[in-house]
Amino acid sequence: MRNVVIIGSGCAGLTAAIYAARANLNPLVVRGHEAGGQLTLTTLVENYPGFPKGVQGPELIELMQKQAQEFGAEFLEGDVTRVDLSKRPFTVEMGKETLQTQALIVATGASAMLLGLESERQLLGHGVSTCATCDGYFYRGKDVVVVGGGDTAAEDALFLTRYAKQVNVVHRRDELRASKIMQKRMLDNKVIDMVWNTVVTEVLDPGKGEVTGVRLKNVETGEESVKETDGLFIAIGHSPNTELFKGQLEMNDVGYLVTHDGSRTNVPGVFAAGDCRDHVYRQAVTAAGTGCMAAIDAERFLAENSHAK
Ligand SMILES: Cc1cc2nc3c(=O)[nH]c(=O)nc-3n(C[C@H](O)[C@H](O)[C@H](O)COP(=O)(O)OP(=O)(O)OC[C@H]3O[C@@H](n4cnc5c(N)ncnc54)[C@H](O)[C@@H]3O)c2cc1C
Repeated sequence: MRNVVIIGSGCAGLTAAIYAARANLNPLVVRGHEAGGQLTLTTLVENYPGFPKGVQGPELIELMQKQAQEFGAEFLEGDVTRVDLSKRPFTVEMGKETLQTQALIVATGASAMLLGLESERQLLGHGVSTCATCDGYFYRGKDVVVVGGGDTAAEDALFLTRYAKQVNVVHRRDELRASKIMQKRMLDNKVIDMVWNTVVTEVLDPGKGEVTGVRLKNVETGEESVKETDGLFIAIGHSPNTELFKGQLEMNDVGYLVTHDGSRTNVPGVFAAGDCRDHVYRQAVTAAGTGCMAAIDAERFLAENSHAK
């Protein structure tokens, strides 16, 4: 029987672990298939407070994990495969292994949708990005390609015009899905060039370890071409990792967990933190902030329900 189980070991889960451990709750963190979360997929992080020269994403995660361990947090490898939140203690299953816990913090994050190209995977964090807010600053005076045609792509493209000298938006259709106002802003912007009816078929050049261009295919004519570029931003949406909680935790229409009064979910004793509940900001510092909230809320819940050790 645990006081607190935390599902997820990204910034949200690890911050929750630091706070819960310092509150003597002896938390157990289930690390999941992407141990350390999204920051392990990137290189330099320049916007996390406290690191004036920036910090490598994996290093930041390692420091957070060490800090949590320092205060007694425990870690378990593997994925949670099923939860039963219908009664307390809650049941958390990892294959054949079953855990019981008085409080649960869900910090399962969100995954950026990718094009599914091998070269894209190889260059993720090395010129391929899924976060314009995070990485736009690295492309001052450079050329970038944005893939997508919805509001995310429009927002990212417009944001990138602050830095890049040329933003090429590659969209597989001949019209945008973005809202009318975003469409107008994007189409009126002289730095943005639209490439219609086109898909990216390969990112160049994994051999050089950096993005030098993209191979494009016009879906109408079948014509192929290469566009030189310094960076590729994939802006085709995110998917929250919340499938596990369907039918048990309240979600919005696209699967993000709904919280109220801080980090509380609709089930008393279950708290949500990080990108799994945030489709707006999706930053390391906001994930860490809500991780802190979830641990404090869990601690108070346990104190009020007198189950804490
Ligand atoms: C390439 C890239 C660059 C980025 N750069 C920056 C940046 O410079 N600055 C910035 O502020 N933000 C950046 N971000 C965003 C930042 O990484 C995220 O906002 C942050 O990681 C969210 O933290 P999280 O803990 O909510 O989720 P995540 O980091 O997504 O972690 C989710 C965790 O949940 C676990 N998990 C999922 N399902 C299960 C399951 N069933 N069982 C057990 N565990 C599970 C995963 O293994 C993982 O450990 C970047 C993101 C990417 C992808």
